[in-house]
Amino acid sequence: MYSNHLIESDRNHLIHPVTAFRPHERRGATVLASGKGMYLRDIEGNELLDAFAGLWCVNVGYGHESIVEAAAAQMRRLPYATGYFHFANEPAIRLAERLVELSPPGLDRVFFTLGGSDAVDSAVRFIVNYYNATGRPAKKHFIALDKGYHGSSTTGSGLTGLPAFHRDFDVPLPWQHHIPAAYPYRSPVGSDPQAVIDRSVADLRAKVAELGAENVAAFFAEPVQGSAGVIVPPPGWLKAMRDTCTELDILFVADEVITGFGRTGPMFACETEGVSPDLMTMAKGLTSGYAPMGAVLMSDKVYSGIADGPRPELPIGHGFTYSGHPVSAAVGLEVLRLYTEGGILANAQERAPRFREGLLDLQDHPLVGNVRGVGLLGGIELVSDKAEKTRFDPALRLPERLTNAAYRNGIIFRAFGDGTIGLAPAISCGADDMDRLFARLRKTLNDVLDEPEVRREV
Ligand code: PMP
Repeated sequence: MYSNHLIESDRNHLIHPVTAFRPHERRGATVLASGKGMYLRDIEGNELLDAFAGLWCVNVGYGHESIVEAAAAQMRRLPYATGYFHFANEPAIRLAERLVELSPPGLDRVFFTLGGSDAVDSAVRFIVNYYNATGRPAKKHFIALDKGYHGSSTTGSGLTGLPAFHRDFDVPLPWQHHIPAAYPYRSPVGSDPQAVIDRSVADLRAKVAELGAENVAAFFAEPVQGSAGVIVPPPGWLKAMRDTCTELDILFVADEVITGFGRTGPMFACETEGVSPDLMTMAKGLTSGYAPMGAVLMSDKVYSGIADGPRPELPIGHGFTYSGHPVSAAVGLEVLRLYTEGGILANAQERAPRFREGLLDLQDHPLVGNVRGVGLLGGIELVSDKAEKTRFDPALRLPERLTNAAYRNGIIFRAFGDGTIGLAPAISCGADDMDRLFARLRKTLNDVLDEPEVRREV
């Protein structure tokens, strides 16, 4: 009775993010009630292994008492402090300092947001301000990757290169442009790593030439394209793109909202390639989803450009009520402690080989066209014809079939619209959890393959 009432009330009142309204009303919600480690429980009492860390964010897993304590202590002491009018609070200052220590060299300044979308939005606004302040007001065009995801604000959804986020929302805006993704499995130049990198560099050069370098502000990229279906560019790609931006005199922004905080192995994916972006956006793993928070870090070049502009004494017209929220910052500090002193980052690196092996084992499954991953971030692209790399007919509604079968098998993962499965388990996961994850995943794939409508296509 209780759960029926909740589901009915959800149907009547709650608008869900990135969800079709009427189909949701017909289906009804799966109401999650509690979590421990990497397992969730819904209100029907079903246990679900969360192979997606919520929404690639609960990196430390559910139920850490020390985080609850940090939040409660801060709420008792000071639940809110504005950052306006020169006010500050201790957790925000300490968190900014810690992030600078943990980030690639050269990123010394931190602006806090509530999540990833407003981190991207803030990065864009600071870049616009930077070029106005440094006397190059024409540099206002932004380039990003096809299939990239940079959030759901008007600005970020336009930088995003996924048609589902453009449709009916009148974006991209005229100053937002896209170049092809570095997608080895489906690259027109084949999967040779150097060829894929060379192609991306050439695409960026061509787009900048078309727009005129004097008109281009920045290139935005995720080190691994998460929402695209976990597209992993070849090693060396990030560095090549960064160097090309430097050469072309455009800013390079790394969007580490998914890839940050141990997801790919090191604290940030940029580290793997020794890349220091001009700006870096982050969220999700910053607080492991225990409280909302994001950040944009910037280099001194950008910071000083804004600071020492033509109107240095006037306020910068950008900021949020909850920038540097003390409770979120206290949570962030404890989460960072768990990653480092708590050994969770080391655990992620220890689990990565088994994760990779689990992905590679799936390569021979009849539904699987391509597996890819880095650290504890994985993508499994399903196809109806392996040789031709044919995607399943959308009419088959493969993502829905996968999600339903997963639920029956006690696992949650992301089923993207094109039939790719995304995996991002808590980076704190144990060896047994990892084995269970792949067992439940394989069983789910077998169940979907056994559905007659699917079997007919393969
Ligand atoms: N950038 C990237 C790379 C993301 O993956 C996301 C969220 N999935 C965002 C930005 C937006 O973050 P949020 O949903 O916290 O606004």
